[in-house]
Amino acid sequence: MHAEIIAIGTELTTGAKLDTNSQWLSLELAEVGIPVLFHSTVADGHDNMLSVFRIASRRADLVLITGGLGPTLDDLTRAVMADLAGVDLVLDEPSLDIIKSMFARRGREMPERNVIQAQFPRGSEVIANPRGTAPGIWMELTRDDGRVCRMAAMPGVPSEMRHMFFESVRPRLPGGRNVIQRARVNCFGIGESNAEEMLGDLTARDRDPEVGITAHEATITLRITAHGASADECQTKIAATKSDIIQKLGHYVFGEEDERLEDVVMQALADRGETVSVAESATAGLLALRLMQAGGAGSSFVGGVVSPTPQSKSTLLGIDESESSHGDPSGEIAKRMAEACRERFRTDYALAISDHPHDGEQQPDEVRATYIALATRSQTLVQGIVPVGDPAIQKSRLAKSLTNMLRLELRNHSESQPS
Ligand code: ATP
Repeated sequence: MHAEIIAIGTELTTGAKLDTNSQWLSLELAEVGIPVLFHSTVADGHDNMLSVFRIASRRADLVLITGGLGPTLDDLTRAVMADLAGVDLVLDEPSLDIIKSMFARRGREMPERNVIQAQFPRGSEVIANPRGTAPGIWMELTRDDGRVCRMAAMPGVPSEMRHMFFESVRPRLPGGRNVIQRARVNCFGIGESNAEEMLGDLTARDRDPEVGITAHEATITLRITAHGASADECQTKIAATKSDIIQKLGHYVFGEEDERLEDVVMQALADRGETVSVAESATAGLLALRLMQAGGAGSSFVGGVVSPTPQSKSTLLGIDESESSHGDPSGEIAKRMAEACRERFRTDYALAISDHPHDGEQQPDEVRATYIALATRSQTLVQGIVPVGDPAIQKSRLAKSLTNMLRLELRNHSESQPS
């Protein structure tokens, strides 16, 4: 089965309004495994609409129409559907009563022109619309080739359309009664293609549950979509897939759903009653902001300094100006920043990010790292981060890389503790 979506309205074809209904419906149909082969957009007008409906009913097994169900003269969807089927419009008394009572509840009399909204092509079915006055229409046409084309007309108002689709249209589609549940697993420290390679056939297209990969500012999210007859069945499938992912990606996995690296790290620090401070140059305070805004931050984040100049490094961290005036080519400054920060704030851990390499010192083809450092009670770890990808996300990537360094340290530490 494949589908076509038709959006009706002159406001769409003139560009005054964007057709968001078709996009939304396509995503929903994909969820129930129905591919959409065509989107058509047509201005209000009997002949245009009839020609588009006719073409769609011949080339698609399912046609979803939105818009043109209102009470005004240019709302022609029901009349055009009747003409397509070669039938007349008939009044549906129960629908008329519902529309009248909707007006009565608002203390108004139903205008005569709203009667049209209770008229349906003979042989079609009424689709209730608890969110608005315009009911939808379900109609099945037998084509010359003997196949049935199912057509559903829904209101143009996006909220009414979505509700009607979920309540009354999706359950009529093959597979539409299935429950769909989703979950997300978040990873850091691995590229999209590496993750795909390591996951192997877990990302195969026809797998159930399906696992998709998206990347945002170096965070990789694995999106699991499970289909089943019940929520329990979906959850069982999701749990098994999650444990396969964790088995394959190991320490790259840091959280689920909306969890960010900083949430996980600050929660771990709070659980252990430990503290952290930060000293930043290239990230200009972004790391401090993230740690302070993290869920579970509590009192674990003690404070930080932003020290982009040799002078501020000297004043705030006691780092010799002459040493920092040449950038940080080896990570030594980052190391000293982290150690000084830990000492000054008296924290269990300190995180530091030194300066971006100075442009003047760099050869055209030379790629230089920006250094991050983590000072703990027993050692200071230093790592160079080479810029890759969009420069706009480099600050975010540096802040995340350092947060991840602390996450891995806490993880290793808790793994080596006797239980
Ligand atoms: P109503 O009962 O409100 O008259 P209707 O079925 O006649 O509903 P329209 O009059 O075509 O629908 O549109 C109602 C509202 O929904 C308008 O604001 C319109 O811009 C918006 N709308 C219609 N179609 C779409 C679409 N495809 N995408 C986004 N918005 C839409």
